[in-house]
Amino acid sequence: MRLDLSQTTPIICEKCNGQIFKEVMMIRKVSRFITNQPQDTMVNIPLFSCHKCDHVNNEFLPEALRSDYVEIVEENN
Ligand SMILES: [Zn+2]
Repeated sequence: MRLDLSQTTPIICEKCNGQIFKEVMMIRKVSRFITNQPQDTMVNIPLFSCHKCDHVNNEFLPEALRSDYVEIVEENN
């Protein structure tokens, strides 16, 4: 399928209205009790953050992590 870019809509940063994003990574630790492995493991979740202000739009976050992320942001303020 050939994609016509004029038929696409931009994703805009919720904070600064920027339209350029960079790839970043969220890392979650998985307890060894869940995986039955001898050690805890880490899972990386690729995300996009705003090129200008580093904000990560809610829509980029996995749904299960949205509430966690809000808490982290609030703690830093
Ligand atoms: Zn931004």
